[in-house]
Amino acid sequence: MTYKYILFDLDDTLYPRAAGLLNAIGERIIQYMTHKVGIPADDVPFKKREYYQQYGTSLQGLMREYDVDPVEYLHYVHDVNPADYFGISPPLDNMLYEIPLRKVIFTNADTAHTHRVLKTLGVGHHFDSIFDVQVRNYLSKPDPKAYHHVLETLNVNGENCIMVEDRASNLLPAKDLGMTTILVDSDRKSLGIDYAVPTVFHVGKILQELLHNSYLP
Ligand SMILES: [Mg+2]
Repeated sequence: MTYKYILFDLDDTLYPRAAGLLNAIGERIIQYMTHKVGIPADDVPFKKREYYQQYGTSLQGLMREYDVDPVEYLHYVHDVNPADYFGISPPLDNMLYEIPLRKVIFTNADTAHTHRVLKTLGVGHHFDSIFDVQVRNYLSKPDPKAYHHVLETLNVNGENCIMVEDRASNLLPAKDLGMTTILVDSDRKSLGIDYAVPTVFHVGKILQELLHNSYLP
């Protein structure tokens, strides 16, 4: 096995779920659905859950059913300051330095939010490429087309990639394409996922094992 790239999800992967930033974004999604789209408040939590399960993101459901403008939506829901939730992360910076693979961000967030989060954590310099939802023309994980877009752009096969993510459902298409999959913020392995670790900081150790048994390009 020759690994070339490691793909990292952004939210709730590079920083812990307990930080609360994604919860704040979830609150803004509810506000958007209620006040901007005009969905009755009682129906919003159900709709949001339904979209999440069916399409992976609320945006996909809102674009299909309400024809919302994705640019306006993404700007509205990501209007939160990451620095209110976490700060610079020297341990993450150190761990990324130790991983001798090219690093990529693969997120369903928009471009501006992705850059704000990376800047706040102080780790943006590690990443060669950023595949946010706007770069992918609003194709969201777990739609397999989003994964094909990334592989085609990087000009690599799935077998050459490792993907790190906090949602098992977003790792399954990666696994189908031959990627090695690591689920973070989890104490149990989900069906079909290669590794499960409690925090992103545990990824470094798994990489040492994986790369010990592989050939670097
Ligand atoms: Mg995530």
